[in-house]
Amino acid sequence: MQLYNTLSAKERAALIKEAGQERLTISFYTYAHIGNPSIFRNHLFIHWDELEVLGRIYVAHEGINAQLSVPAENFEKFKAHLDSISFLENVRLNIAIEQDNLSFLKLKVKVRKKIVADGLNDETFDVTNKGIHVGAEQFNELIEDPDAVLVDMRNHYESEIGHFKNAITPDVDTFRDSLDIIEKDLADHKEDKKLVMYCTGGIRCEKASAYYKHKGFKQVYQLEGGIIEYARQVEKKNLENKFKGKNFVFDHRRGERISDDVIAQCHQCGKACDTHENCANEACHLLFIQCTECAEKMDNCCSTECQEVHNLPYEEQKALRKGKVVSNKIFKKGRSEVLKFKK
Ligand SMILES: [Zn+2]
Ligand SMILES: [Zn+2]
Repeated sequence: MQLYNTLSAKERAALIKEAGQERLTISFYTYAHIGNPSIFRNHLFIHWDELEVLGRIYVAHEGINAQLSVPAENFEKFKAHLDSISFLENVRLNIAIEQDNLSFLKLKVKVRKKIVADGLNDETFDVTNKGIHVGAEQFNELIEDPDAVLVDMRNHYESEIGHFKNAITPDVDTFRDSLDIIEKDLADHKEDKKLVMYCTGGIRCEKASAYYKHKGFKQVYQLEGGIIEYARQVEKKNLENKFKGKNFVFDHRRGERISDDVIAQCHQCGKACDTHENCANEACHLLFIQCTECAEKMDNCCSTECQEVHNLPYEEQKALRKGKVVSNKIFKKGRSEVLKFKK
């Protein structure tokens, strides 16, 4: 039985082009109790390979997180297969608007410890005991309720460029940190307040809502499908849009505009701006907000130091980097002494 890819990415790309078939790009996730992730992994691979599914799927004891593409003509069969798995029946599928037929070139189903690296190693709570899911319409009503506390479950650099009005936006670098801060802040309101939360696509709230229920919060609500789905519903149903600014996304676009408001400022000159850039110095790569004028003046760098390095011949830059670990500064995003206008 074939349980692994037999075609290389190049061969696959050629085949897709040749066939000229339309593919749908789909993502979904769910927390569930999966007894034997390896068996489940093989089960998925066998069925999905048959349906010519390509993508990156993580399977763990705690659930599944999938990003994939499927030929449009096989979609019904694929959906039927999902519905045959009890915890995936009617799972919400995000079908990408930006169609890219070459978005994935292999089927990779991997067994992981977790479906999202969330830094939460508390095994004592039930991840499937989630909060109440609300759609955009109900969410709009709920957040006007005086007994509701609205919490943004994302990190500082995400909420900085866009968030719901009146939301608490924790000044944190990681999901793990925000869990603790919010619990502490709301410790006296576990029973009397409605805890309403949202994130980018909903997956962080799946975990967070279960965590807060475990910690004693009685009324926990979460925005179904996150800001991405909210924006879609607002448009489709012509609802009032209560989100201001951009939704930070983790692909090359960095941010998806949801309203015309620009709520952030250039970290270098302070003028209204909500465009994230990475410092052009390969050894820095700091993610920060930079306007076009500053980008030009600074050669797309975060500081004059970085600018100097960036303007050295490539070989000299390489020599400077030698032996140093170049990370993308994941825990320093938007945080640096040189950013004078970072709030
Ligand atoms: Zn500027
Ligand atoms: Zn820099």
